[in-house]
Amino acid sequence: MAFAPRGAPKEELLRHTRQVGNIIDLNKCMGCQTCTAACKSLWTSREGTEHMRWMNVSTYPGAGYPRDYEKMGGGYAPDKTPTPGKLTTLTDVGDNFKFNHADVYYGGHGQKVHLKPTSAVTGEDPVWGYNWDEDEGGGDWPNGYYFYLPRKCYHCADAPCLKACTHNALYKREQDGIVVLDQERCNGDRLCVEACPYKAIYYNPVSQKSEKCVMCCPRVEQGIAPACDRQCPGRTRLFGYLDDPDSDLYKLIHVHKVALPLHPEYGTEPNVFYIPPFDTTHAFAEDGSITDEGRIEAEVLINLFGPDVVPVIARLKAERSKRQNGKPSEVMDLLIGRNFWDRFKDFSNDPLQEAV
Ligand code: SF4
Ligand code: SF4
Repeated sequence: MAFAPRGAPKEELLRHTRQVGNIIDLNKCMGCQTCTAACKSLWTSREGTEHMRWMNVSTYPGAGYPRDYEKMGGGYAPDKTPTPGKLTTLTDVGDNFKFNHADVYYGGHGQKVHLKPTSAVTGEDPVWGYNWDEDEGGGDWPNGYYFYLPRKCYHCADAPCLKACTHNALYKREQDGIVVLDQERCNGDRLCVEACPYKAIYYNPVSQKSEKCVMCCPRVEQGIAPACDRQCPGRTRLFGYLDDPDSDLYKLIHVHKVALPLHPEYGTEPNVFYIPPFDTTHAFAEDGSITDEGRIEAEVLINLFGPDVVPVIARLKAERSKRQNGKPSEVMDLLIGRNFWDRFKDFSNDPLQEAV
């Protein structure tokens, strides 16, 4: 289906024969933002998109990106009707700082003038920006902790953004389940922004339309993994068809069951999964001795991934112990990913080579 007619039932817009998706291993993400930069340079360097980060990585615990998105609502009511949440502001999505480059580099002021951001929203000193609270984290001293949480659109199987749009601008591509937003049909009323509980849709004030992650669909059509996944130097990511039983992605999600969606209680059936962090940093006891306990409280992870995270963490720790004791562990082998291309399987083509 290229386009469903305007007024088509939402079931038709959600219909897809295959679904692509991701796993992101939170134990390996180092917060380098290579994924963010890869996405930004490909997709959001146009006028009106400067503030957008379709791919973003924030420190958890923290306000996240967009700021406080978990408190903004959206998603579904108990009867499964899309519920409008808050609209994100330009500040929430990171502002678009202006810098005094000309003054610093060419103004002839020597060391007297330094690089300084100015908010594009207020023209004053910024009060919030992308990764404003980077590496602050949580926990009580000496058991402080944090981890990085990379996020993008989850290309949900039951996407409230799509259901909320009265112009049928959003639809799932039949061949791969990627949720795209037709710019011709969008009238900029941002019902989709309100409806998405992950706040993964952004408003372009120049075109006055909404925009979102397209999962690099032009690359995907040529067997090339999305830029954020392919460029990750930490080998945190896997990408592919979620129904392919021979893929590492499938084995980790469906066979070993160690990958979980973020906020499953939103009820949107996301197609990006996470390997939860399983505590490599040991906590200190009150007497200052080092314990075998991790620093991240179970409630923190349950809040993010639901109650299934408890057995998943236990399974991951058991698999790690097997490896430490010289026994085989397919889970650990899959997570280590010695062969980079196994992570992308059908999407291992080189973006620099012409498609044949
Ligand atoms: S994450 Fe948000 S924008 Fe993406 S498909 Fe789900 S509801 Fe829609
Ligand atoms: S590129 Fe990989 S390691 Fe770096 S921030 Fe993104 S997911 Fe994490």
